[in-house]
Amino acid sequence: MSNFIDFNLASYPFPTKLTPLTASEKKHCKQSIKLLLEKRNAVIVAHYYTDPDVQALAEETGGCVADSLEMARFGSLHPASTLVVAGVRFMGETAKILNPEKKILMPTLKAECSLDLGCPAKPFAEFCDQHSERTVVVYANTSAAVKARADWVVTSSIAVELIDYLDSQGQKIIWAPDRHLGNYVQRKTGADILCWQATCIVHDEFKIQALKKMKMLYPDAAILAHPESPAAVVDFADVVGSTGQLIQAAQNLSNQQIIVATEKGIFYKMQQACPDKSFYIAPTAGESAFCRTCAHCPWMAMNSLKTIEQGLKKEGELHEIFINDELRERAFKPLERMLSFAANIKSLNYKC
Ligand code: SF4
Repeated sequence: MSNFIDFNLASYPFPTKLTPLTASEKKHCKQSIKLLLEKRNAVIVAHYYTDPDVQALAEETGGCVADSLEMARFGSLHPASTLVVAGVRFMGETAKILNPEKKILMPTLKAECSLDLGCPAKPFAEFCDQHSERTVVVYANTSAAVKARADWVVTSSIAVELIDYLDSQGQKIIWAPDRHLGNYVQRKTGADILCWQATCIVHDEFKIQALKKMKMLYPDAAILAHPESPAAVVDFADVVGSTGQLIQAAQNLSNQQIIVATEKGIFYKMQQACPDKSFYIAPTAGESAFCRTCAHCPWMAMNSLKTIEQGLKKEGELHEIFINDELRERAFKPLERMLSFAANIKSLNYKC
């Protein structure tokens, strides 16, 4: 593994928190959104990390709540001519790359991701050029320009399988941008990986010492962790996997108490899948430490009923994703490879 540029030292401007809506405002927004969805032949594609109200509305209106791979699949297969992508900007871009004929609207185009921000296209392309013998694999959490420079795009749900496959073909890898996921995949596969050094500001904050203390308080609890978390947290977990795989694990495990190291928006689907179980967020602050995100992504929080309504009403450059054809075509190839690869495997990355 290589230390190239430590974007983890970067600090990102957090967006202003939205004012919570009253019950009657929520009701009004929902009615308005339903009418607009119908009028625009649109459907909501929401990520597991969005607000529970957003996830509930997506389900209620025939949309989907999923991880980024399933969001991409659903958006491509659904007959709606407009996709309202509730998530962060790279998810909207991915939807546009896969569906150029569809209108892609987002509640806001200002919803960033620290992994995307931590992997700017120009230095990344220079890094790849310096190691041109390596196959370039980038995580879905990247811009269209970074995807366009890659040979493969991958999501956490199939990362181990894809790298294992490439390693079996004798290929050496450049992995970007998440260093914890890159480290996890390298340890699982033994592949030769040169790793970019960005992190997710949410998962990077989970603390192993505090987690061990929490486990003492809840000795019968299972620990689920997303592999964007630090290695010590991942190693201590009973199950490691993507968001979809963690929800599946919560259902399959016999434990009644479950400690979860990922963004807390996932509790909506976990609780829905297992109403009798108790879920606890893993600690994000140890002794003499404090959390910046406290397991809640500040950019995912920009998706609300109000901003969805605004996106559908106003459209235009504040809400619609545009990607030029040349860039889109280059970014499409590695994404298409990922979808074909994913279609050929059925995976559950259970560590236990
Ligand atoms: S939770 Fe982390 S990986 Fe997901 S959008 Fe937020 S910053 Fe990016």
